[in-house]
Amino acid sequence: MTEQMDTGQGKASFTSCTDVRPEVAEFEAYEPGLSMEEIRLRYGLNRVIKLASNENSLGVPPSARKAMLAALDRSFRYPQAGNPRLVRALAARYHVGPERIFVGNGSDEVIDLLFRVRAVPGVHNAVAFSPCFGLYVTQAKMAGVELRRAPLKDDFDFDFAAMLKLVDENTTLVFVTSPDNPSGRLASPELLEELSGALPSSCLLVVDEAYMEFADEGQSLLSRLERLPNVVLMRTFSKIYGLAGLRIGYAILPAVLADYLWRVRLPFSLNVLAEEAALAALADDEFRRESLRVAREGRELISRELRDMGCTVIPSQSNFVMFSPPAGTVSAKDLHTRLLERGMIIRGLGAYRLPDWLRVTVGQEEENLFFISLCREILGA
Ligand SMILES: *Cc1c(COP(=O)(O)O)cnc(C)c1O
Repeated sequence: MTEQMDTGQGKASFTSCTDVRPEVAEFEAYEPGLSMEEIRLRYGLNRVIKLASNENSLGVPPSARKAMLAALDRSFRYPQAGNPRLVRALAARYHVGPERIFVGNGSDEVIDLLFRVRAVPGVHNAVAFSPCFGLYVTQAKMAGVELRRAPLKDDFDFDFAAMLKLVDENTTLVFVTSPDNPSGRLASPELLEELSGALPSSCLLVVDEAYMEFADEGQSLLSRLERLPNVVLMRTFSKIYGLAGLRIGYAILPAVLADYLWRVRLPFSLNVLAEEAALAALADDEFRRESLRVAREGRELISRELRDMGCTVIPSQSNFVMFSPPAGTVSAKDLHTRLLERGMIIRGLGAYRLPDWLRVTVGQEEENLFFISLCREILGA
């Protein structure tokens, strides 16, 4: 195979030493919201609370902190390529062979590699819902792969029939997030199993279970994996394990594919401290139980209170709640701004093309109560 082959990509002629691939030229810079410090200074506040990025409100697990401190002096060494200790620990946790585990620098790296390994630019396509997690969109684009989008239903439930209509013989990846972000809705495992059975034999179904630990028991595809040879499950240490800033994601996938991902991954993409923290957090049942309790109780409280104020609230199986303020009060945008002025950062969903909706991450009880009291005040409810 030469680079000039078929894809059309080899034909673009560069005239300047700063020209870039057309896909790259279309990229817009990632737009971070204002930082907590910027909000504090802008509005002259003493305290700012951030419930915007679905991080674990309990912070870093103490066990992981201790493990990182103990490993600090070893960080002049390269990590062990292939991260065998973490792979073995994950394999033991999920009762699968270690050859079916892949770990990367956040789910972000796993998503990126799936596109690059499974899709030939300009030939293959991928399918996801709209709205969906932004990384599916950006990494498809970066890989030069068409991403087809099936709309969710009006109530943000999954429309698998619409999704299947977009699949053809050149579709090699289908992405479903369950529980979904930003809606918090869960996809029924029965329907996902049906979807996997309806896909062409050359297509892989990727189920992103970043928030599955927060959902009711038995909703993961994990227990069905043995009979689902075309399914990849993605998970992360960023949410229930409280380690978003360390960047650790993983997948359970067919061994052949895991082997290819390991071959092309940057050898040391998971750093020494992250690996130690992940091992400690994985073994920390108490932290996980407490995180689950805080998320479940918090989402019930927030959902009930927002409904009581007249908001439309999507039932959440996750550590965040998506809602829309009642018509005739304030717009989502204004509510967002007025919360900011009071030091409460939540997520506006303009980037998901849902300007009438907001997403709030479940915090600790006191943070949730503060959020609720601010909403009551602003909505006059
Ligand atoms: C937060 C999140 C992830 C986790 O990404 P990391 O790169 O592991 O931090 C994955 N998928 C979805 C849909 C998410 O919201």
